[in-house]
Amino acid sequence: MDNTWIIEKAYIQGEFVDAKDKFDVLNPATNQRVGKVPEIALNQIEKAITYAEKSWQSWKTTTVGERSQLLQKLYQLTLKHREQLAEVMTLESGKPLQESLAEVDYAASFIIWFAEEAKRAYGDTIPAVSSGNKLFTIKQSVGVVAAITPWNFPLAMLTRKVAPALAAGCTVILKPASQTPFTALTFAKLAQEAGIPGGAFQVVTSTNSKAVGQLLATSELIRKISFTGSTGVGRTLMEQAASTIKRTSMELGGNAPFIVFDDADIQAAVKGAVAAKFRNAGQTCVSVNRFYVHDAVYDEFAASLTAEVSKLKVGNGLDEGVKVGPLINEKAVEKVQKHVQDALDRGAKAETGGKHLKGNFYAPTVLTNVHAESLIASEETFGPICALFRFSTEEEAIKAANNTPFGLAAYFYSENVRRCHRVSEQLESGMVGVNTGVISDASAPFGGVKQSGVGREGSHHGLDEYLEIKYISYGQ
Ligand code: ADP
Repeated sequence: MDNTWIIEKAYIQGEFVDAKDKFDVLNPATNQRVGKVPEIALNQIEKAITYAEKSWQSWKTTTVGERSQLLQKLYQLTLKHREQLAEVMTLESGKPLQESLAEVDYAASFIIWFAEEAKRAYGDTIPAVSSGNKLFTIKQSVGVVAAITPWNFPLAMLTRKVAPALAAGCTVILKPASQTPFTALTFAKLAQEAGIPGGAFQVVTSTNSKAVGQLLATSELIRKISFTGSTGVGRTLMEQAASTIKRTSMELGGNAPFIVFDDADIQAAVKGAVAAKFRNAGQTCVSVNRFYVHDAVYDEFAASLTAEVSKLKVGNGLDEGVKVGPLINEKAVEKVQKHVQDALDRGAKAETGGKHLKGNFYAPTVLTNVHAESLIASEETFGPICALFRFSTEEEAIKAANNTPFGLAAYFYSENVRRCHRVSEQLESGMVGVNTGVISDASAPFGGVKQSGVGREGSHHGLDEYLEIKYISYGQ
């Protein structure tokens, strides 16, 4: 690959900057170094925050038409450099190239969506009930936004925050995951080329996540923090953000159930299961963690799923035909191993897989007869493991599905329309896939309930996360 796309610098005040200290970014498929990026010092981040605040004063006064046009240009550039972005992404995250290409398209769809939505930040005119005043509302940008993003979707999680923030008139400081900063830096280069002002979008790189998180979450100048990552870190950031009563958007962990009822189309359910489980080797917050399968169709579903899962080609994401790449690092492999071993110890059977391959690779696995108290039932595994539990009544399935502090995505398969409505309403999750394993769409509100987070990204709701409502009353 053309190495100019691996930018070993942070992007601050409109310039690509270096630092004496650097950290390595590794390719999870080979454990070889992709490159080094600067360890940005806290005092430099403070300067970036001040600059973002200053820049907000002018950025917020640009017209929505101007901001929309800049975002449209950024959208075009993102698509123009689709291959380069995807390759950078596969190198640092390990995901198969086809998935990286799909992620670039998905990420770009947020840019164009919010380029359009920028124009629809409507206010209200309100009939006053107790005075003769004229009442109306306007929507204004929140201010400086800190965005902290994870490694599993290095580009889409970024555009889902940055595009609506910029569209709304906010300025943004992004701290990408230290495992995957290069995709964000390539994107910064495109933002610069598109003409997004240097103070409107900055990227700070660091492995010192705790201190950087604290600085961003407690800064008086930052008015909003948007985070995607684990529930534990989200909780810490919310606590820290409380000190300045910051607004927060939190996309946190999930523990998605996938229910297969006895009236389901089993082949469709198997197809949906593979789609909802194996994207990014199971390392997504909407990945299925628990399969609940009705007794009457359990054996058929398990056999078909096992046959499909056995066919999945594992390997380096840059190799042809690879469907499942490596896990992000050794720690992730250890967690998967722990969950599988615990399930096996409690009587589960590995129908396929169930073993560590080499390096960061783990075999796609189907486990049957998993005990309800296994770790995998209560903790997010973040790996290529299908854990199958049995149920015999709808009530039992819903109770089991909701028996978690999380509530991000849930899926189920049934051909009965009444059941589809009933179950959708009863599942405690922010998103439900009915007879589908793929739910993400820029035009839909993505987000969770319970400890899976607060706020929604994408859709027209996604813009509101970066807008304040101002009410104005005119006396007679
Ligand atoms: P994951 O388990 O997916 O890596 P994390 O929540 O650990 O999820 O990481 C998501 C993002 O949060 C990354 O950018 C990471 O660097 C950052 N992060 C990790 N710990 C903290 C922290 N204490 N404060 C702020 N950000 C953090």
